[in-house]
Amino acid sequence: MEKTLVILKPSCVQRALIGEVISRFEKKGLQLIGMKMMQLTDSILDVHYAHLKDKPFFQRVKNSMSASPVVVQCWAGNDAAKVVRNIIGITNGRNAAAGTIRGDFSMSAQENVVHASDSAESAEVELKRFFTDNEIFDYKISTQNYLYADDEI
Ligand code: ADP
Repeated sequence: MEKTLVILKPSCVQRALIGEVISRFEKKGLQLIGMKMMQLTDSILDVHYAHLKDKPFFQRVKNSMSASPVVVQCWAGNDAAKVVRNIIGITNGRNAAAGTIRGDFSMSAQENVVHASDSAESAEVELKRFFTDNEIFDYKISTQNYLYADDEI
């Protein structure tokens, strides 16, 4: 099964949206296989947001991501990275479609509640950044045959 990284940002933790966001991924049929609370540091954020280092808002985004603890999660499922990105919506919450997490809970380009890996390839790299191997749990769920057809498992 494909794995992807989700980070419940300080804007999620502070606004008490942790349960709401987890519930959306659970109800979709994704499997939670890793989760912990972390305080992010400037050094991990330098790497995680390296693609933004020349943007004027780089330091502001890093400050926002370290303003309180975050919850990091690993979700698994077929096409998990794409499915999760569809559920969270586009970056700017004001433009994100209603029904997505950002579309329903964010008014901001920065304070947009969740991070999710943008592809399966990025997820492999990002999961190693936040989790050790023994923090990811490979366990069977009994509902598998009701989530997927035989040829999808
Ligand atoms: P995404 O999180 O949708 O993959 P990016 O990787 O482009 O988006 O940006 C990472 C994070 O940086 C965003 O989730 C958001 O918190 C912040 N960000 C992106 N663009 C802006 C912007 N124009 N102004 C403020 N913050 C931004």
